[in-house]
Amino acid sequence: MNYTVNQIANITNSKIIGDGELIIKNIAFDSRIIYSTKNTAFIAINTSKNSGEKFIESAIDRGINIIISEHHYSQFDNITWIIVENSVEFLQKLAKYHFKNCHIKSIGITGSNGKTILKEWLYQCLWNEFPTVKSPKSFNSQVGLPLSLLQINDVHRLGIFEVGISKPNEMEKLENIFQPQIGLLTHIGTAHLANFKSEDELIDEKIQLFKDSEVIIYNGDNTLVDKKLNDLYSSKKLISYGLSDSNQVYFKNSISKDEKFTFQYFDEEISFPVHQKDEATLTNVLALITILKELGVENQNIIEKINALKAVEMRLEAIEGIKNNIVINDSFNLDLDSLKTALQFLNEYKKPKKSLVLTDIVGVNSNSKELYDEVSELVNEQKFDSVFLIGNEISKFSDLFKAKIHTFINTKELIDSKHLTEIENQIILLKGARKFEIEKIKDVLELRKHDTVLEINLNALLHNINYHKSLLKPATKMMAMVKANSYGLGSYEISEFLQHHHIDYLGVAFVDEGVELRKKGITVPIVVMNPEQHSYETLIQYNLEPEIYSFRVLELFYEALQKSGYDKNYPIHIKLETGMHRLGFKYFELDDLVEILNKTTLKVQSIFSHLSSSDLPTEKEFTLHQLETFEKNSSYLIEKLRYTPIRHILNSSGITNYTNYQYDMVRIGIGMLGESPNSEIQKQLHSVVSFKTVISQISLVENGESVGYSRRFKPNQPTKIATIPVGYADGIPRLIGNQIGSVGVNKTLAPIVGSICMDMMMINVDHIPNLKEGDKVTVFNAKPSLKEFADYCKTITYEVLTSISPRVKRIYVKD
Ligand SMILES: *Cc1c(COP(=O)(O)O)cnc(C)c1O
Repeated sequence: MNYTVNQIANITNSKIIGDGELIIKNIAFDSRIIYSTKNTAFIAINTSKNSGEKFIESAIDRGINIIISEHHYSQFDNITWIIVENSVEFLQKLAKYHFKNCHIKSIGITGSNGKTILKEWLYQCLWNEFPTVKSPKSFNSQVGLPLSLLQINDVHRLGIFEVGISKPNEMEKLENIFQPQIGLLTHIGTAHLANFKSEDELIDEKIQLFKDSEVIIYNGDNTLVDKKLNDLYSSKKLISYGLSDSNQVYFKNSISKDEKFTFQYFDEEISFPVHQKDEATLTNVLALITILKELGVENQNIIEKINALKAVEMRLEAIEGIKNNIVINDSFNLDLDSLKTALQFLNEYKKPKKSLVLTDIVGVNSNSKELYDEVSELVNEQKFDSVFLIGNEISKFSDLFKAKIHTFINTKELIDSKHLTEIENQIILLKGARKFEIEKIKDVLELRKHDTVLEINLNALLHNINYHKSLLKPATKMMAMVKANSYGLGSYEISEFLQHHHIDYLGVAFVDEGVELRKKGITVPIVVMNPEQHSYETLIQYNLEPEIYSFRVLELFYEALQKSGYDKNYPIHIKLETGMHRLGFKYFELDDLVEILNKTTLKVQSIFSHLSSSDLPTEKEFTLHQLETFEKNSSYLIEKLRYTPIRHILNSSGITNYTNYQYDMVRIGIGMLGESPNSEIQKQLHSVVSFKTVISQISLVENGESVGYSRRFKPNQPTKIATIPVGYADGIPRLIGNQIGSVGVNKTLAPIVGSICMDMMMINVDHIPNLKEGDKVTVFNAKPSLKEFADYCKTITYEVLTSISPRVKRIYVKD
């Protein structure tokens, strides 16, 4: 977009205080990830959950001089204000106007699953056919969609936007803003079904998006969808795709020997190789093909594009580097949008200095002077210490960049120069077009190279938190349990991420866990569930909040508090015993408890308890009894106290199974890691943890030979065996050797054979073709899943995660 403040005020009927001639090209809504302040306005979005107005000051601190807000704050100098009646409606009005006047071809994607992946795939397939704009991340809501639409500018010819709803009557508002020419309806699942009376109502709501569409492409495996679209939109062009052969586009046969798939597109047959054969991927591929055909892309071209998708690891990863650096690797593709995203990502890390490795931008047909002007402007705003430019094109424009500049013809030249290995205590962003293979730089800069890693996907974690939040009332607070090193995943990294996303509370088991978080800069309130007697002084010093579960603890803690000289109301959390019989006050102790509390300067911040069996349907009666006891005893306590603390009792499966008992807060643990005992809920969650390694060696073991210690595997025919570098010292129980457990290789299970060694184990890969040394192995993630892996170990997922040894490197990725 590109409007003056005056124009925007006219379009949206808003008031201006300040300079109406200023130009706005971007609207930022999150003050933490402002990547550029030039021609950028900050909008303070008010929702029922949150007010963005508290971030106005930090946006201004970052250099923003235009603020869009419902209220005017006069203490800031030289700021232009657009004062709006309702921030969300303002965005919607502006986006509606903008979309109506920009005349691009548009694709609107809705459905329960697969929206984001399809949008990203379409983008990858189409961006070098047409100048394309797309929703960033999964911006698809009442706020996200308008922000996405406002990104459209004069050069764009195609826009691909996600549209998501979670409640009745939302689609009408969105369709009023955005009328896609091509509508895509992916799978309809049970996500958000809770807010609708029936699947029927959910479908009716979603398909309203297509009211003005010319073409509707939809997953026809759902017969209700098929019927409704044909009834309502019989005059439009409707194309159904899916696994069933009743669709117009479907797969013809199972996979042939050369791993090719044939699919039927109306009367035409096309074949191409596929690399991932799960149903969700295949269905998404069908949708993709249908749209590409609809846009007139040639078959050969489609095949090439789909082949190219397989190589995509579209991710920004943050890696611990040598010399205390953090390396952000984004070596998949390079265009302006992805550069902006990467620069935003950079702002989430706090390091005093930063450096950038940037290559030529390839495959964009615009004027290169203009392009690199814009690139250098974005880059200069970040104030990099050093900038390393790779490629002939970008090197020509090195004068535009303000930093210590080095130019190189190719990646190898940069690596050989040894400049990079001199960098210390910085954050280094690697951003390059694919052909420059700058991931090779990552190998040079990465600390402690290890083939075995535990990869933690923070986006999936956030998705899972938001999923659980969607079940709760907006006002309900959430405590994230990050005890035991965040269930083994790294307590600081997880806490820092959650703090960034406004978690209300963190929960740890012991004081030293809380101290570590405080020392590294975590400021969110932290509850210590089991504060040991010797640690009270430290607890107070680091402003941690104790769980108080007995008179002994109460008295000792109060004594320590008085000694510390702290005289304000110190927050404590009272644990009630309701049936778990672990820690807590029993009902007959409540009178004495209140009497003591009322004599102290302690402030009961919350009253809580813990469910022993919220995951077990067979213990529903017991759980309801626990909940009833909690209600009774906590109410009694509140009545006797002279104020009202907040209350909480639900853990992850409590949130999903006993939502009505959410009180004022819930405590999420395993649920945020994507695990639920309830299979319906499990489908909605994303898996967060992936334990990976690579094959060290492949051997053919002949009949009569044996594998491993004590010769416990003796094949009766020549068998292909692979050795992988994980063993019981990494936390794989030795008990799952000898074909009890399996690991995943090329999406196929490979049984562990022989005894598991300390640092290695052997797996049977006889049935898996085309393997080579160095290929990836999944100890758990999708196949086998964490749950299946826990089943091999005859334990629960919690124990598997907390048993993974600290020597396994943890890496954190975000989409
Ligand atoms: C660990 C813990 C939780 C989280 O339990 P999940 O089953 O992982 O959700 C909640 N409350 C308390 C007191 C805990 O110790």
